[in-house]
Amino acid sequence: MNSRGKCLALALSAATLLYGCGGGEEVVVDSPPPLVDYSKRKALVIGVDGVQYEKLQEAIAAGQAPNLARFQLAKTYGGGIVGSVTEQATSSGASWTTVLTGAWVNRHKVASNDDKLRSQADSVFKLIKDADPKRRSASIVSWNTINNNFARDINLRYISHAEKCSEDDQCVADKTSGLLRFGNFDFVFAHFDDVDNVGHAVGFTPAYQAAIQDTDTRIGQLLVALERRRQEHPDEDWLIMVTPDHGRSLPGGFGHGGQTLSEKTTFIAINKEANAQLSSPFKDPADMAFDGLYGNATQADIVPTVLTHLGVKPDAASYRIDGVPLLGQPSVRQLSAKADSEARSITLQWRISGQPSGKPLTIYRDGKQIAQLNDAATSYLDQDLEIRDGIAELNYSVVLGQVPAAYLARINVDKSVQGNP
Ligand SMILES: [Zn+2]
Repeated sequence: MNSRGKCLALALSAATLLYGCGGGEEVVVDSPPPLVDYSKRKALVIGVDGVQYEKLQEAIAAGQAPNLARFQLAKTYGGGIVGSVTEQATSSGASWTTVLTGAWVNRHKVASNDDKLRSQADSVFKLIKDADPKRRSASIVSWNTINNNFARDINLRYISHAEKCSEDDQCVADKTSGLLRFGNFDFVFAHFDDVDNVGHAVGFTPAYQAAIQDTDTRIGQLLVALERRRQEHPDEDWLIMVTPDHGRSLPGGFGHGGQTLSEKTTFIAINKEANAQLSSPFKDPADMAFDGLYGNATQADIVPTVLTHLGVKPDAASYRIDGVPLLGQPSVRQLSAKADSEARSITLQWRISGQPSGKPLTIYRDGKQIAQLNDAATSYLDQDLEIRDGIAELNYSVVLGQVPAAYLARINVDKSVQGNP
């Protein structure tokens, strides 16, 4: 690595060292952080449409999913928080858009399966490209609507290679394994749809379990392609995550879209050791609905996890990602906002992992710093907001030890309408 590259890696791994680079001065550090060459960091996200968490566990126990059995598997949720601005249908359009933006529907606006909708939130593809124009992403989908929802990313070349396989999962497996084996991509998204299609047709039946088994075999095909790639690129470090978009309705397992525990329950399978956000869910989340489901990680956590692995750090002050990274230091967790339209104030609440240690915690509203606290704080009242009558959206970024989390709060100060969850 040349000295410029070294300097860049240092700057990426510890933002505080930035000032030392380029000026010719010595970089003075007590103990230098390990050098990370982020150009060798790659990520693969595999979408398995409509796979029920419990049914996957059954398949693993029965030896029908030997590839997924190799991953760390944890329960997560989709559909946002019911009754809040993040609530969204447990449908594929809304859910895949969250998986690929780290944002809920109040940011991404893909509220249904309408393939004319375009995501209004920055995608993982764009954030990776913005950080380094040399980096390349691919999106290979069985359900074509996903690539339609991200058509702007394709047109603007944030997605360097896009394929629509039109409900042919073997096409997805073959195209993706070819790209992984011989291509030059930093981030790859592959989407399989057979399990969801079988679920809609025949529900929870042996055929549904067989579809999970077939999908696991196709995932195995991708893993073999990466193994072969490793022989020529032993220095690459691939993060792999597998996730569905939603669960299924009970008892039959035919449908989804609603707000029930079974439809909201999703999972993340990951090939690396995850932090507390995934491995230590809160048993006592503020909202105990759905048997405490909200204490778990979410499908919005996938994008910040990919970005962390790739060393991509969007500006913390104007951060607009709702999820929490599952690798490295997590940001604040369970961040939420409650608006008081009478008082024209917003109360932010959050949790941290473990005990407070005096770490600085900074809060920004729409890019402007409004508070400097430490990690003993778990709430903040933002009052005397200068808002005209009507609905206002305020983006809050709470930054703990340089790791941000965001929430897009909504306040309605129209006197004729009550209630602002
Ligand atoms: Zn479906």
